[in-house]
Parts: sequence; structure tokens; C-alpha cells
Amino acid sequence: MKQQISVLGATGSIGLSTLDVIARHPHDYQVFALSGFSRLAELERLCLLHRPQFAVVPTSEAARPLQAALEASGLDTRVLVGEQGLCEVAAHPQVDAVMAAIVGAAGLKPTLAAVQAGKRVLLANKEALVMSGALFMQAVQAHGAVLLPIDSEHNAIFQCMPGDYARGLGQVGVRRILLTASGGPFRSWPLERLAEATPQQACAHPNWAMGRKISVDSASMMNKGLELIEACWLFDARPAQVEVVIHPQSVIHSLVDYVDGSVLAQLGNPDMRTPIAHALAWPRRIDSGVAPLDLFAIARLDFEAPDERRFPCLKLARQAAEAGGTAPALLNAANEVAVAAFLDGRIRFDEIARMIEAVLNRISAIAVQQLDDVLHADAQARIVAQDWLVRYGH
Ligand code: NAD
Ligand code: MG
Repeated sequence: MKQQISVLGATGSIGLSTLDVIARHPHDYQVFALSGFSRLAELERLCLLHRPQFAVVPTSEAARPLQAALEASGLDTRVLVGEQGLCEVAAHPQVDAVMAAIVGAAGLKPTLAAVQAGKRVLLANKEALVMSGALFMQAVQAHGAVLLPIDSEHNAIFQCMPGDYARGLGQVGVRRILLTASGGPFRSWPLERLAEATPQQACAHPNWAMGRKISVDSASMMNKGLELIEACWLFDARPAQVEVVIHPQSVIHSLVDYVDGSVLAQLGNPDMRTPIAHALAWPRRIDSGVAPLDLFAIARLDFEAPDERRFPCLKLARQAAEAGGTAPALLNAANEVAVAAFLDGRIRFDEIARMIEAVLNRISAIAVQQLDDVLHADAQARIVAQDWLVRYGH
């Protein structure tokens, strides 16, 4: 039987890589649903190629022309709308696996819907887990979902962990997790130049081609901060057990350090189709289309410690991880507003961290009892962040 896959965020970088892997295995996987938010001509092209049962777009105004175009091409794809449509295709009884590849907090409810329906969840949308950590992991347990990390680092860590790591890192002899980071495009820029960095420079990542939001996060290293929080939830680690290591070549995707001194690493070319293929087929292995690693061409691997003066976002994220409760949701929301403002030219690159810090200083984190606590923190942080923008934005 073919596995039925819903791809949320199909028009994005991860979505397209997922469809590339799926297309290599037409006998094993079938696209059940595709979603897009903008670039709807691209979504139409993907529907013609993969013939899903459902497509999801943000509004009814967008749904009508797409529905008409698909019908005119002889497809019986039904076009659904908004968050409700996303949750429906995430939790649909016919679906086996959901690729959660929407960017940001917008992916939280659809991803949770997949978890609550007990699906195999391929998690790229790290913001969803960062925001709702404990609730998310409890829901995975309660509904028997299979959570597989797509983030290359967490996928690498998963591959280097023993099968029974859920017993607890101490129980299985893991001392710490070494989370690798490329350092992004500004790793070796003179510090005083960072203030003038443009969106175009921030999005020009040395090793990975990604969406604009995660590209800016990589440049500020907030991406590594979010990943630190993500690793704590996925592997039940304390923040102090996760060490960030800058490794500019992005060939080692992360490492696990055991008490006997063994350190296991996963290596590969920097291409997201490897973790995607791994998670799609796990525990099997399938071809991903990624070229074999050429160690002679790479020749050397470098490592350095991150500099918190250059990357203040990393420190803010570690503090949020340690504070717990709604702190990561506040951090994430403030960061989403800051990154959008930077991409719009309303704040300078160095003001991203300043704005997030200001938001975190204004709102106290509280314990999380239910999803509403998370959603409230998210909304509150966005209001305070907008306020900061009105006062200090350009
Ligand atoms: P992207 O910007 O290329 O794609 C985002 C997708 O989400 C698009 O399909 C877009 O239409 C959809 N989307 C955007 N806003 C939406 C909204 N409000 N409602 C519904 N859909 C919306 O981003 P990406 O680089 O593919 O990243 C997707 C997720 O995967 C992010 O959470 C990112 O952190 C994570 N991730 C990406 C990479 C990578 O290499 N690109 C690596 C690791 C993790
Ligand atoms: Mg990553």
C-alpha cells in the first residue's frame, strides 16, 4: 500500500524538497494534500504534477480560481481554505504521514492536529515545537504519534541516538548533544559592520538554500537558539546538555557524546533531501537524490566556539530555554516580528536581538497549563513587539 502524505507548506523550500523525494518513489508514496500560502501559481503546478485529493489555500478568494483551474485540467482535487483546511488534511483518516513545513507560528495548530490524530509527523516547523514544547510532546505520547525530526541537526542527533533514548539520556549513557551550526553568512564579518547588513546579505547563506525567515534566523543564530530549545524537547535534554559548535562546512550535521568517550556523528552533503528521505522511510533507507559525500573534495572540517557578542540571539534563546513556561513562545513571536521588520527594511540587523530582548523584558513568562497560555503569550509578544517597532522602527 502506498503511504498517503500531506505536505503542509508545499510551495516552500522544504515542501519542494519533500516532493522531489516523493517523486523518486512513486510506488511507495502518494501525495494526499498540498498547501500553499502565496505563490499559488506554483501550488497549481504542483497539483497538476502530484494530483492530490486536497489543496489548501489561505482564503476563499484564492480558492475559487484555483478550484476552477484544476477542474479545467480534469483534476478532482478539492480546494480547502485556511487553518481549518490545514487541520483537516493533517488529521484526515486516510493520511499516513504529514510533512509539517509551514514556517513560523502559523504551523502550530495544523502540526498539533496531525499529532493529535496519531500520524507520523515529519517536523520541519520547529517554531511549533519551540512554542508549545511540553504540550506538544505530551500530545505525541497520548496519541501515539511518531515524531521524526527534519531539521538536519535533530535528524542527525536522532540517527546517532540509541533506539531506546526515550528512557532518558542518563539511562542510555549520553553525556551531551553537540549541536552544529554553520555560523551563517556573518560568522567572520567585522562586528561593527553587522549593523548595516542588508536582507539580501542575510539571506545569502553559505551552505544552504532556504526560506527567507530561516535564512535571517541563521544569520543571527536565532535559528540555533530555536534548535537548542527544539533539541531539549525532542530528546528530553536540559539546556546545559546541549552545546553549540560552529562548524562552517556543514558536513557534520550534529553529534552525540557518550559517557564512555565515544562521539557519534552523522555526516552528509548539506541537502535537506537526506533528512526528509530518512524520516519518510524510517526505519528503512531510500534514495534521496543527494550526491555521495566526497571527503577528499571537502578535505578538512573546522570547529569553533560561538561568540555571544556577535550572536546575542543565541544567548536570549538559551535564557528562554532555561526559564521555560511561555518564555520560548515569547521569544519566538518577538523574533518573527523582528525578522519580518528587518526583511521590510524597518529595523537594522543588530536591532533584531535588541527588539527581542525588549519584549522579553516587558512580559513575564508564566507556566503553561494549556494551549491558550501559549497562544496568549504569542499574541502578547506580537503586540509589544509592534509597539517597539512604532517607537524605534525606521
Ligand atoms: P519557506 O518560506 O520556503 O516556505 C514556507 C511555506 O509555508 C510555504 O509553502 C508558504 O506558502 C507556507 N506559509 C507561509 N506562511 C504561512 C501561513 N501564514 N499560513 C500557512 N502557510 C504559510 O520556508 P522553509 O525554508 O521551507 O521552512 C519551512 C520550515 O522548515 C520552517 O519552520 C523552517 O524553520 C524549517 N526548516 C527549514 C529548513 C530549510 O532548509 N529550508 C531546514 C530546517 C528547518
Ligand atoms: Mg537546522
